[in-house]
Amino acid sequence: MIYIPLQTRYNSMKYKRCGRSGIKLPQISLGLWHNFGGFDTLENSRAMLHKAFDLGITHFDLANNYGPPYGSAEETFGNIFKKDFKQYRDELIVSTKAGWDMWAGPYGNFGSRKYLVASLNQSLKRMGLEYVDIFYHHRPDSETPLEETMSALDYIVRSGKALYVGISQYNAMQTVEANKILKSLGTKLLIHQPNYNLFDRWIEDGLTKVLDEEGIGCIVFSPLAQGILTNKYLNGIPSDSRAGKKGTYLKKESITSDKLNKINKLNEIAQYRNQSIAQLAIAWVLNNSSVTSALIGASKVEQIEDIVKVFDNLNFSEDELNLINSIFAYK
Ligand code: NDP
Repeated sequence: MIYIPLQTRYNSMKYKRCGRSGIKLPQISLGLWHNFGGFDTLENSRAMLHKAFDLGITHFDLANNYGPPYGSAEETFGNIFKKDFKQYRDELIVSTKAGWDMWAGPYGNFGSRKYLVASLNQSLKRMGLEYVDIFYHHRPDSETPLEETMSALDYIVRSGKALYVGISQYNAMQTVEANKILKSLGTKLLIHQPNYNLFDRWIEDGLTKVLDEEGIGCIVFSPLAQGILTNKYLNGIPSDSRAGKKGTYLKKESITSDKLNKINKLNEIAQYRNQSIAQLAIAWVLNNSSVTSALIGASKVEQIEDIVKVFDNLNFSEDELNLINSIFAYK
């Protein structure tokens, strides 16, 4: 089957400027952490990428070790890219990362220049790309001097292997420091990738203030708390869900009755708003003006179709926000 993207693909997606930069990101981006690995069905992965692009999702997010096995999500992406997306390269923002465990020995983890540069070279090969649009340091590393990690990011931009750089999971203070060093080297810190959802609002305690002041974009990962903020677990744990599958980072024990009580209450608000719980959860993260894009995951084409309907109702009344705060016991 030859893939021909829909002509209508830019009709309904909203694009938002990424901090103070020239780049706009779709307000919904797709991550390939799960369901694009070597043990997943290639045709399903391919169908999801087609659907995403047809709906205006121009940003695909990867990392060196997404799979399993490590590297296989990049290989899957590379296979599909070569077949279906090569001629649309300039319509895509592709990101990858290094910072977590990738290969054996002392040079396949953390934040050294050796690791970051070698890892990006490997990622480019797996994906069949000449460059990525964004390269991230995936997590802070307390043992490597921050100057070394940031100068590796600066070098990577200058070498042309990434157009922009970002950081992930850095706290507010670490972000200030990283930004200061990159600025002094003359490279812009484009974007931060933290987790953010109704269960975990840590970025509101200092990080978003730094990002706003410094003009750094913010793409939030796991906005659905890995699928908990949906109707999926209201009647048990389906065997084809992330919590029901083996080898994922969402354990059955994380689906607590306390969380399900909250989701049930949230469902009443979602129904009143004529939305799915997932749409409400995405609308809620996008309601934070610091957030550039919600970085979702998906296991089925229909989930992506469901999420993009969020644009039918993005706004919340004061009463709705207060009610949500009270359900999640937010101060
Ligand atoms: P989400 O919180 O969006 O969870 C995705 C899961 O939610 C899906 O796999 C699916 O679960 C479920 N889901 C999605 N849409 C719907 C829907 N409409 N209805 C019902 N269920 C739905 O995000 P992820 O945790 O997957 O993270 C997203 C991306 O963020 C990753 O792919 C990765 O790119 C990035 N990330 C970055 C990290 C970092 O350290 N920088 C860490 C983690 C993620 P199911 O599979 O059960 O069907």
